[in-house]
Amino acid sequence: MMEEAPPLVLTNCRLATMAGADYGLVDDAVVVIRHQHIAFTGPRSALSNVEVSAEVIDLRGRLLTPGLIDCHTHLVHGGSRAEEFEMRQNGASYEEISRAGGGIFSTVRATRKATEAQLLDTALQRLDALMLSGVTTVEVKSGYGLDLATEKKMLRVARRLEAERPIRVLTTFLGAHAVPPGSDPDAYLDDVCLPALLQLAEEGLVDAVDAFCEGIGFNPTQVERLFREAQRLGLPVKLHAEQLSSLSGATLAANFNALSADHLEYATQADIDAMASSDTVAVMLPGAFYFLREAQKPPISALRAAGVPMAVATDNNPGSSPMTSLLLAMNMSTILFGLTPLEALQGTTVNAAKALGLEKVGILEQGFQADLAVWDVTHPAELAYQIGGAPLHRRVVGGRLC
Ligand SMILES: [Zn+2]
Repeated sequence: MMEEAPPLVLTNCRLATMAGADYGLVDDAVVVIRHQHIAFTGPRSALSNVEVSAEVIDLRGRLLTPGLIDCHTHLVHGGSRAEEFEMRQNGASYEEISRAGGGIFSTVRATRKATEAQLLDTALQRLDALMLSGVTTVEVKSGYGLDLATEKKMLRVARRLEAERPIRVLTTFLGAHAVPPGSDPDAYLDDVCLPALLQLAEEGLVDAVDAFCEGIGFNPTQVERLFREAQRLGLPVKLHAEQLSSLSGATLAANFNALSADHLEYATQADIDAMASSDTVAVMLPGAFYFLREAQKPPISALRAAGVPMAVATDNNPGSSPMTSLLLAMNMSTILFGLTPLEALQGTTVNAAKALGLEKVGILEQGFQADLAVWDVTHPAELAYQIGGAPLHRRVVGGRLC
């Protein structure tokens, strides 16, 4: 994917550079791409000459934004939970679904059973759908193995996605996603999770470390043990925090200067203050809120007032957010949570890059990676406004039109 492409000149377009406090609109603009990076952006009048070898593309007034970044997904997993969904919609209780073999451990069983080729096939189907939302970078978590072999299989598949499609992938080790039935969480951490992290990090399969901090997951003391090991290995951390209850997980994440704290429906002012004095991004996941019919909304106004950067992601996963459209997540973040269309787009570009620790992505500016999305609309608010639309025209990944 990353081999050298000829210089590319995108002309006659409208830019939303996302470089400042607003969209950074530039009309009648041109973008010059060289060596996979943006060499120039600005009004056409400011560009003096273009090399003859360049491929010039007239975008006929279309909108150009940074390629979208989905900074929180569980894209690689086995099985489907559609039958469980059907049971739920027919009135089955959580216990009945559990007894019928549903819930997260049905995904664990299916993921353990699936071959690497099968996991790759189904992940590619979901990835293809995501890319139709203009996604050029995606984060993919492990966490449905809860044993070394399966966690490794998931991360290997996540890495392979990059070879199969024009996309950038960041991998996250989420061995602390759930406590295997019959296990003690501390024993699971010591005997399985921490040794697996060490080995998978040594194999270069881990870009970041995540955990599910919740009454039904891991408590802050256990998460802290995991984070200390991540720190020792030089890996950044992030955390599923305050989704279903308030455990001060977001404060813990901020104290470790985590890349992000994700969900945050039950975050308190103390959590927000801690995040505001760290570099931790607040990642909004409206898909799970919607699918689980939750009522507690994340404290958007308080996060905004404290100046905590907010990102938006699909949280694609079989149990609580079988969503493969980042544009739909943007729409939901505005309607369900009250983000503005500008915040929703910042949340899938500049702030999503920050949530992944990426420095030269997510903004259309000279020197940044040439990952772009070209849209069949003229105003960027269209991207959060449409429900189920298909406004994508083309993507550019690493300087290549695709
Ligand atoms: Zn998640």
